[in-house]
Amino acid sequence: MTTPSHHVADPVGDAVDVELLEAAAHVAATRCGGGTHSMAAAARARDGRIFTGVNVYHFTGGPCAELVVIGAAAAQGAYELEVIVAVGDRGRGVVPPCGRCRQVLLDHAPTLKVIIGAGDGPRTVGITDLLPDGYLWADQQIDPDQQPTPTPTSAS
Ligand SMILES: [Zn+2]
Repeated sequence: MTTPSHHVADPVGDAVDVELLEAAAHVAATRCGGGTHSMAAAARARDGRIFTGVNVYHFTGGPCAELVVIGAAAAQGAYELEVIVAVGDRGRGVVPPCGRCRQVLLDHAPTLKVIIGAGDGPRTVGITDLLPDGYLWADQQIDPDQQPTPTPTSAS
């Protein structure tokens, strides 16, 4: 068999990583229940491993499940994520990333694919499709070799 079994053909977009979706759904169903943890996310790393996480709600701005997964993957040495999906508790199904997460995901993994589309059925899109004409944090960083030389100002 040459085709990975966890990929199912999707005529609308890229193949949906069903195994990944099921991993997030399992965590949402077994580890979340409103309150502090109401969302689960799963991401597949380039090496094929799946990492999961749940959100940590706090009124000061606790991290969404997608951001927890980035950290959980990094803790295991996986820095390159290929696909991510978030699933809500209480049977809410696939939930698209919030605005903050779209920005973070774009900046950390610009080639990342995201599974969205609870209502119409799951489909896979690029993170850039979810944040068109987006701000790129990397574009705003100062290149140490390109720093402008301060212009002396004359005392007045
Ligand atoms: Zn979010």
